[in-house]
Amino acid sequence: MSSFETKRIWASILVVAIPLVLALGAQALIGMQANAAPGAMALVTDGEGRVWELPLDTDATLTVTTSLGSNTVEVAQGKVMVAHADCPGGDCTFHTPISNVGEAIICLPHHLTVTIRAAGQAGEADGQAGDTAAPEAPASPAGGLDVVAD
Ligand SMILES: [Zn+2]
Repeated sequence: MSSFETKRIWASILVVAIPLVLALGAQALIGMQANAAPGAMALVTDGEGRVWELPLDTDATLTVTTSLGSNTVEVAQGKVMVAHADCPGGDCTFHTPISNVGEAIICLPHHLTVTIRAAGQAGEADGQAGDTAAPEAPASPAGGLDVVAD
């Protein structure tokens, strides 16, 4: 077999293999998102007791303004983050986007919280969230609570 033929064979293998790898990678990503928190939603509460529910599978932007200040909560690519805030330091805007049940972003100056709830778990029932975590949730003995205070 000439080296030219060998190159041609490798070229044809790569032509098939690269799209296959890309497709599998994309599928894995989608699968990971789905497994992370099926039907999860972001529960947003503000300093005035108002509550919003944002499904993580729908991109959305929510601006919450109270007498304390303003936060813009953004849902994108299955995750939620605080995109903008006028709190001192703006620490809540530096928190990485969250998507796993039990995770939270808290803006202390504005008394605003963003927490991830599994489907059907919405509400103010806080406390033993770990007991009702979906079985698909990644094993995390510490409960996966990820809080950054301003
Ligand atoms: Zn903040």
